[in-house]
Amino acid sequence: MTGLDPKNPLVLDVRSLQRRPGSMVTVTRSVPAPAGLGVAMARVPERSPIDLDLRLESVLEGVLVSGTADLQISAECSRCLEPVDWHEEFDLTELFRYPSTDARGAVVEEDDESDDPLPMLEDDLIDLEPTLRDAVVLDLPLAPLCSEDCLGLCSVCGVRLEDDPQHTHDTSDPRWAALAALVDPDTQ
Ligand SMILES: [Zn+2]
Ligand SMILES: [Zn+2]
Repeated sequence: MTGLDPKNPLVLDVRSLQRRPGSMVTVTRSVPAPAGLGVAMARVPERSPIDLDLRLESVLEGVLVSGTADLQISAECSRCLEPVDWHEEFDLTELFRYPSTDARGAVVEEDDESDDPLPMLEDDLIDLEPTLRDAVVLDLPLAPLCSEDCLGLCSVCGVRLEDDPQHTHDTSDPRWAALAALVDPDTQ
């Protein structure tokens, strides 16, 4: 029994390669983003389209997957909290190994000591989700910005300074003066 569901759009069927080294197929498909793909301040909205453009090449040890995933990212600016959306193309490259078999063709369980063993094919199916997750999550910004020089929020009233570059507090108003003095004792 395989744990992979061939109906999952992120599961690729490589049967047509017939395990013949040198054979190659391309896969172009749009798949809905899986849940929880992202980091704290930037993520791929669940079910938003991910456009995959992949080459699957049969090599001696398994199947080499390479190509790109084009997807939408929704983030918040880490300075002013404004929503920021953009499209980004991620490179995917991963070798999926055939399970080792003994002389009779039975699958041999290997004790793989390495921390990050290469993913395996399961019954000629490839699960692309971990590869996609690694590529995207490792590359998303931990502190996204709406623009390089985002001015952030006014420390007195919290207004977004980008929206109001002339923003200032009339310190002749004693209430603001008192607040400004709390934030920056030198402004008086
Ligand atoms: Zn900003
Ligand atoms: Zn203000």
